[in-house]
Amino acid sequence: MNNVVPIHPSKEAHPAIRQERGQREVFCGLTGIIWLHRKIQDAFFLVIGSRTCAHLIQSAAGVMIFAEPRFGTAIIDDRDLSGLADANEELDRVVAQLLRRRKDIKTLFLVGSCPSEVIKLDLSRAAQRLSKQYNPGVKVLNYSGSGIETTFTQGEDACLASLVDDIASHKDTPALPLPEGKSLVVVGTLADVVEDQMQRIFKDMGIADVQFFPGRHSNAMPSINANTVFLLAQPFLADTAKKIEALGAKRIPAPFPLGVEGTSAWFEAAAEELQVPRAVYEKAIFAPQQRAQIAIAKHRKQLENKKIFFFPDSQLEIPLARFLSRELGMTLCEVGSPYVHRQHLAKELELLAKDTVIVEGQNVEDQIDRCDQMKPDLVVCGLGLANPLEAKGYTTKWSIELVFTPIQGFDQAGDLAELFSRPLTRKEKIAA
Ligand code: SF4
Repeated sequence: MNNVVPIHPSKEAHPAIRQERGQREVFCGLTGIIWLHRKIQDAFFLVIGSRTCAHLIQSAAGVMIFAEPRFGTAIIDDRDLSGLADANEELDRVVAQLLRRRKDIKTLFLVGSCPSEVIKLDLSRAAQRLSKQYNPGVKVLNYSGSGIETTFTQGEDACLASLVDDIASHKDTPALPLPEGKSLVVVGTLADVVEDQMQRIFKDMGIADVQFFPGRHSNAMPSINANTVFLLAQPFLADTAKKIEALGAKRIPAPFPLGVEGTSAWFEAAAEELQVPRAVYEKAIFAPQQRAQIAIAKHRKQLENKKIFFFPDSQLEIPLARFLSRELGMTLCEVGSPYVHRQHLAKELELLAKDTVIVEGQNVEDQIDRCDQMKPDLVVCGLGLANPLEAKGYTTKWSIELVFTPIQGFDQAGDLAELFSRPLTRKEKIAA
């Protein structure tokens, strides 16, 4: 099995992380509803917010909806804001109407927003009250998607953290029987197709007891206890991981499953933790790893030695920078990330060259100036910055697309590389 890609951490120490504060250009956590509602197929996300919040969700989801949406907005209007109406009464009425009409809903998330926080609407009490009322048919949970100071992927973190609280509250009566010995949970929303591929590889490694969190249905959430070990599939789940650890579970340190190298190391970490023999691990990943290497090789010619600049947005920036620099030969101008979780990203940071410029936080004006000086071939940024930067002549990639698209695992490695090579190829064709 000498074709398995060896992981060679950089011999140097970690790159330094510079912090920056100032004007930020990020989306709020409501955006996470778009992929979360697809994943948990009997959940409904009710945003308690303004017309702005409703527009944000509708425009973000507009091109993505392929089935009846399971999200909506209870609009807070002038009467609520001025205190003339009892917002709790209004909320109870909207929830009753919704649950009467939609018998398929098994979990209802009340999602807080900036306006609901401004009028100090206590959604956690509302969720407890409504949960009692609709128990046992419907579970009502709450989390906050608000925030001018948050990033859009924090919505998923807050949502999953509320689910962990719910799992903790039912600790004595787990939804699934407790497994013998250690059980593995993969944490972070993944497309079903990615989950199925990963499940097959784990099975080939002899790890049959793998659960994914969140589950596809409300009654398919994993049991978590001191026998649980977990692998993060997404780098933006700080609060969720903390709550899972508080239940006694242990995180397996690993890079994230992006690209051939990251995915190999991610499975390898699970194999080591669960004492899978090396030869069994290598055999299980051999064929998918070969396919992935062939798929990404096609894009190397386009991406090699091209300069890329990351504006902070999704918190995926560091694993992506690692993939693009090490497997596709791109030159990293600057890797901006809204937050850098030092422990969760430790295995990623080990793989980056020491001189990589990593900036945590944002001062958008300064960052645009640096981008102008470095003249990257490709800029990864949020939607708000993409158009102005395109107007300046830059080729951009929306970071939000990297969360909507299945990119994890071996079979998606080629698609992930193509997400970066395609805008450059398109630009060349237009210029020709
Ligand atoms: S930033 Fe606040 S007001 Fe704007 S869409 Fe998000 S939650 Fe609503």
